[in-house]
Amino acid sequence: MAERAGKAHLQAMPGLSIVWFKRDLRVADHAPLAAAAAAGPVLPLWIVEPGLWAAEEASARQYLFQAESAAELCADLAVLGQPLVVRAGEPLAVLSALAEAMPVRAIHAHQESTGERDFARDRAVRAWAREAAIPFHEHRQNGAIRALPSRDGWAARWERFTRAPVLPAPATLAPLGLDPGTIPHPQALGLAPDPCPGRQRGGRRAAEALLWSFLADRALPYRRAMSSPLAGWASCSRLSPHLAAGTLSVREAAQAARRARDGESGGLAEGIDSFLTRLAWHCHFIQKIETEPAIERSAMHPAYAGIGGAGPGEPVFEAWAAGRTGWPFLDACMRCLVETGWLNFRARAMLVSVAAMHLGLDWRAVGLHLARLFTDYEPGIHWSQVQMQSGVTGVNTIRMYNPVKQGFDQDPEGAFVRRWVPELRALPGRLALEPWRAGGAAGYPAPIGDHEALARAARERLWGVRHGPAYRAAADAVQARHGSRRSGMRQVGSRRPPAQPRLELGE
Ligand SMILES: Cc1cc2nc3c(=O)[nH]c(=O)nc-3n(C[C@H](O)[C@H](O)[C@H](O)COP(=O)(O)OP(=O)(O)OC[C@H]3O[C@@H](n4cnc5c(N)ncnc54)[C@H](O)[C@@H]3O)c2cc1C
Repeated sequence: MAERAGKAHLQAMPGLSIVWFKRDLRVADHAPLAAAAAAGPVLPLWIVEPGLWAAEEASARQYLFQAESAAELCADLAVLGQPLVVRAGEPLAVLSALAEAMPVRAIHAHQESTGERDFARDRAVRAWAREAAIPFHEHRQNGAIRALPSRDGWAARWERFTRAPVLPAPATLAPLGLDPGTIPHPQALGLAPDPCPGRQRGGRRAAEALLWSFLADRALPYRRAMSSPLAGWASCSRLSPHLAAGTLSVREAAQAARRARDGESGGLAEGIDSFLTRLAWHCHFIQKIETEPAIERSAMHPAYAGIGGAGPGEPVFEAWAAGRTGWPFLDACMRCLVETGWLNFRARAMLVSVAAMHLGLDWRAVGLHLARLFTDYEPGIHWSQVQMQSGVTGVNTIRMYNPVKQGFDQDPEGAFVRRWVPELRALPGRLALEPWRAGGAAGYPAPIGDHEALARAARERLWGVRHGPAYRAAADAVQARHGSRRSGMRQVGSRRPPAQPRLELGE
């Protein structure tokens, strides 16, 4: 309807280029926008895809973050001359309706490495565009490389990519006079109510504010503070939802970090160096899903294909998901995540490791539940990490987190636990971390099990399959496909399976 209304006016145009915005909601360092603007009039388009938002891993908190970012992008584009045009529908239908209503000379978008559904969608759009004789240009989005034949030399290519000049926003865009459309309410997309009072706000301004405050001083205690969910809130960059929605590009973040690092020494320099390493990890993990989209549903190592475990509806899964395992620090992390949409790395790793190992939950059900809770859900990072922390990649050291010791290490005074588990507020100091020593606390469950015995059983289960030449050959194949080739990445990348089985207990 909106397309037909504008038809006569637009048909007179020599041709326009559609810029299809996806998880790249910004005007700067945007190769599709720059290329399209250089060629003539631009129709900047954001498609709200019902299929995407109906996926099991999607949630209202992710959608609202993107919607806020799109609203700000709309204002930024309006300043240039042509606001964002929003259409709801499946991309093939939306793009073909636009191409019927107006002379589309090309479509520009970023490549997306976000899993099987999106790969199939983009394949279909590519085929339709070929048929319609409309050039469809897909530009590289980050350090992940399409059709990469080998991981060799990947780190050097990441360096080159992030050191290439940041593209400026176009100076102006010709106004098209199109109906801008409206951003649908999450319920209109069938998204379940998802209260998240502490959720980060979307939009470029919030991304810039976080980047500058981090590089100016929050990075100083970063290396020391990043392991604690309490200190990490202030000292980690918290840029992850922005990098996932693309309000900031990895290249912009890396270049700003390198500039801020220049001439610095001591803690701030070390913090910024660690941040830069993590920006490389960001792309390293996205490369995995780019290379093997099936990692969102299948264990990387085939020996773990049928490992299974308890899922939603089963009491042990529900206790973990509700933050009611009776292990206070673990429960506090889960409840903090529910309320804020964010957690630091170590707390995420512990939630998964205890779920898949001690509690024997199904790693995929665990990953889906957490994906919905993460505002920053980034499929390549998420599924690689969920598999690593569940011990099913076959190539990484299996690391088990002791849910009680983690509390002593990361929350020694019990402040974080008292903040998120109100049932334990009356217990002073470390007693909040081990309420059983005080005879329990009203309304709070006893521990769901003996975590040491559960860890031993998990170790036998996971290591039980790690033997024999077939296991080793499959592990070598995983390593060749996904392993980083640089020591700086090995901590979170992939390692060769150790000669002697090694298990890190209680970390
Ligand atoms: C089970 C599990 C699931 C995860 N799921 C996600 C996810 O869906 N989305 C996501 O962005 N991160 C995910 N991470 C990685 C990491 O926990 C988050 O990136 C980080 O906590 C985000 O906070 P921050 O932006 O303050 O990170 P910072 O410490 O400030 O790091 C800066 C950026 O580097 C990247 N980064 C940091 N740590 C890692 C890492 N270990 N691997 C890859 N990239 C990293 C992120 O883009 C992050 O924003 C997951 C980790 C685990 C263990």
